[in-house]
Amino acid sequence: MVYDVIVVGLGAMGSAAVYQAARRGAKVLGIDQFDPPHRMGSTHGESRLTRMAVGEGDEYIPLVRRTHEIWRELEAETGDRVLHDCGVYVVSPKTASLGWREDGNFAEETANLAVKYGIEHELISAAEVRRRHPVIRLDDGSHAYFEPSGGIVDPEGAIRSQLHLGKAFGAQVRANEPVLNIDARPDGVTVTTSLGQYDAGQVVVTAGAWVKRFLPVEYQRPLTVYRQVMYWFEAEEPEHFGIDRFPMLMWIGEKQSDILGAFPNVDGGQKGVKLLTEQFVESCDPDEVKREVSADEIAYFAEHYAAKRLNGLTNRCLDAQACLYTMTADSHFLIDRHPENERVLVASPCSGHGFKHSAAIGESLAQWALDGKSEIDMSRFSFGRFG
Ligand SMILES: Cc1cc2nc3c(=O)[nH]c(=O)nc-3n(C[C@H](O)[C@H](O)[C@H](O)COP(=O)(O)OP(=O)(O)OC[C@H]3O[C@@H](n4cnc5c(N)ncnc54)[C@H](O)[C@@H]3O)c2cc1C
Repeated sequence: MVYDVIVVGLGAMGSAAVYQAARRGAKVLGIDQFDPPHRMGSTHGESRLTRMAVGEGDEYIPLVRRTHEIWRELEAETGDRVLHDCGVYVVSPKTASLGWREDGNFAEETANLAVKYGIEHELISAAEVRRRHPVIRLDDGSHAYFEPSGGIVDPEGAIRSQLHLGKAFGAQVRANEPVLNIDARPDGVTVTTSLGQYDAGQVVVTAGAWVKRFLPVEYQRPLTVYRQVMYWFEAEEPEHFGIDRFPMLMWIGEKQSDILGAFPNVDGGQKGVKLLTEQFVESCDPDEVKREVSADEIAYFAEHYAAKRLNGLTNRCLDAQACLYTMTADSHFLIDRHPENERVLVASPCSGHGFKHSAAIGESLAQWALDGKSEIDMSRFSFGRFG
């Protein structure tokens, strides 16, 4: 059998591409080295932030808008909730002299984008944030952007729903089968795995932190993988962090390493309050990365992030998981035809902010593979900018 499309890697992007290609009636095969959703890549840990005014740039707005529409369609089809629109705060210092972000004051930049695109929002003072949420320890040197339609998304749930529906539309899915080689010729593509060979007209490579293996050396260079850690801390009174009271909080500080994400809990607080920061100091290999989180890491995070920014958390860490960011040199996505193979599409849309666009990226990849072009303009994400 010759497939119309083979999708290599079934995380956020690949599961979306499988679903979208299969629902259009294509013969689709999806292959993953693990059994998705799993904890080895970039799409696990219960929640991801989403918002419409994407401070990363205008070119992301059509992707996030379409993604929210698709998530609602998925929910209607499966009955499983993916998107919780609990609202999002983007908190940042008022000073416009943040050295680490070219765009200066992130809360204001985000608000400017919201005005431009007619996205409902508020720009509010620290005192008002504290009044609404006494657990947030915000000083008067900061302020916040609030977007009521933003919220959190269930990453594992989105993968599960899209693979489930993809299969219902006839897609085949092979788990625990690493892809070893992709051989693209003018008349077709052969994908070799640990268990066999499969032929297709087009191949979509959505291999996340492993994508470099499928790229020529000069296009591997702009990609760097960083280990990040997500922590779940016990709350003294979990209801203060419940999704009906506590919105998603993205807190930008004076330095890049100050960033803090705090997520509302959706399960009554059994698993604790999820918190994270970002690090771009130590890069890693996805096959050798340290998966365990040490007691020292937890203690450092509790002291320097959790306790300083939030009231009402204990020092008890209920869980901690490592996760991978695949950063491009300019922090924008890489989505394009393979530089050497017209029949291969590559999508590496992480850089720490890819999930909120994933459903539309999957749809665009399916359109590209089956029709030769996508409805949403992807030219901003081309390989050419690194050539
Ligand atoms: C801690 C953390 C927090 C984040 N927070 C946010 C957020 O709040 N909002 C947001 O929008 N984004 C966020 N992101 C980014 C977002 O989660 C990622 O952009 C997105 O999940 C990446 O999806 P992916 O499909 O590219 O990679 P993955 O989901 O990792 O999928 C890649 C898949 O390819 C498979 N694979 C690789 N090589 C092979 C091979 N040779 N053969 C077969 N299969 C293979 C892997 O097993 C894996 O399943 C966050 C990321 C992390 C790590």
